[in-house]
Amino acid sequence: MPTFDFDLFVIGGGSGGVRAARMAAQQGARVGLAEAAELGGTCVNVGCIPKKLYSYAAGYAESFEESAGYGWKLPEAPQFDWAYLKTQRAKEITRLNGVYASLLKNSGVTLVTGWAQLADGHTVEVDGKRHTARHLLVATGGTPFVPEIPGREHIVTSDAMFDLSPFPKRLLVVGGGYIACEFASIFNGLGAKVTQLHRRAHLLTGFDDDLRQFVAHEMGKAGVDVRLNIEATSIARGPNGPVVTLARGQQIDADTVLFATGRVPNTQGLGLEAAGVALDERGAIAVDANYRSSVPSIYAVGDVSTRVQLTPVALAEAMVVVDALFGQGKRALDYEFIPTAVFTHPNIGTCGYTEIDARARFGEVAVFSSEFKSLRHTLSGRGERTFMKLVVQKATDRVVGLHMVGADAGEIVQGFAVAMRAGATKALFDSTVGIHPTAAEEFVTMREPMPG
Ligand code: NDP
Repeated sequence: MPTFDFDLFVIGGGSGGVRAARMAAQQGARVGLAEAAELGGTCVNVGCIPKKLYSYAAGYAESFEESAGYGWKLPEAPQFDWAYLKTQRAKEITRLNGVYASLLKNSGVTLVTGWAQLADGHTVEVDGKRHTARHLLVATGGTPFVPEIPGREHIVTSDAMFDLSPFPKRLLVVGGGYIACEFASIFNGLGAKVTQLHRRAHLLTGFDDDLRQFVAHEMGKAGVDVRLNIEATSIARGPNGPVVTLARGQQIDADTVLFATGRVPNTQGLGLEAAGVALDERGAIAVDANYRSSVPSIYAVGDVSTRVQLTPVALAEAMVVVDALFGQGKRALDYEFIPTAVFTHPNIGTCGYTEIDARARFGEVAVFSSEFKSLRHTLSGRGERTFMKLVVQKATDRVVGLHMVGADAGEIVQGFAVAMRAGATKALFDSTVGIHPTAAEEFVTMREPMPG
């Protein structure tokens, strides 16, 4: 038996990597983890966490405005201090970096700071020092993708959005996915004049069509200038910031241009080729159902390997790998009914199939849909509306799609996702007593299917 320095060596200290390292160490494995930047990866440093903090910040603008309808007289117009928010966010992220470091330390993981490269199927080199391991796990995440476009040096990606200086009074967002919609909503709330360009007829490809139309309308009502079926063709530096030329020749001036046009796996400079690790057609590490790459001792989880780029998915995949290698044994992760939220204003929450996908997969479906002004907005003066939709397989009565646009949609849909994974039927939804008065109760009180 060859001897190794470690049982498991992880490359990448983001969500998936840290979870795998910690859990493996808790099972008694000797674990090393290499990270060249701050611990926590995209989620903690330039993704989920700072984004949600900024989304809360944007929400206060709405609350201040609405409070007048409830009798609050603010002494003066609220002022937003961008520099203060950035400092507070940076402090919290630094605290979280520290939490990750102590979690690793307390579990007995050896943290190696530096850029790691695979030398072969059992060897990793970090700053000239070699570490050997029985198993290697690549969890290096992803990075923003920017298409080839003249003047791309004048744009920023989501990585830079948290520390922009000064605050962009005019923000142009290119893209119609999660990141584009979230930043458009957030900066609109914080006071920027936001224009969002998307090349398709609707935002959020892959989401339910009714939801897509509804959220674009609500974002528009909130102040985002959503322009559809349009592409940016070039960017130039004007006297007052970047100037974006659109396909129809029109030009838009901005202080900041954000390209949120997707993310690609981080596979460069890792020695993957040297080690013989195969990539798939998207340039991600190709893995089997057990997250094993073409080299049997090398595994990959999270954004560097899968199609579902979500932190909780990376965590779940990491747990499957650890269980297989050091725990109770092999098990498969079920990717069906993964709930997700988009922190637009209002929020989106969704679980399961869109109406179109449900028809294709389950045959005949019944659709229940509701759109209303929430109780909060009867006095707030805001015209924001809430949307809810259920898609039910007719043959089994199972709820296979649940979609919402409205306040706290992510919080609401998380609970319904448990019921949906358990195979809850529409009859079960109907027999569940609602919580009154909430928006969520609408999901258990929709009785009349849409015609057709
Ligand atoms: P998405 O894949 O969600 O969206 C990319 C957007 O860019 C799409 O609208 C796409 O258009 C558009 N696009 C792609 N290429 C071009 C191009 N060449 N020119 C113009 N537009 C283009 O990626 P994101 O970067 O927004 O986010 C990446 C992933 O990260 C998400 O898919 C999600 O899984 C995850 N994420 C999750 C969050 C959450 O859970 N709340 C938050 C943020 C990210 P088209 O529709 O035509 O393809």
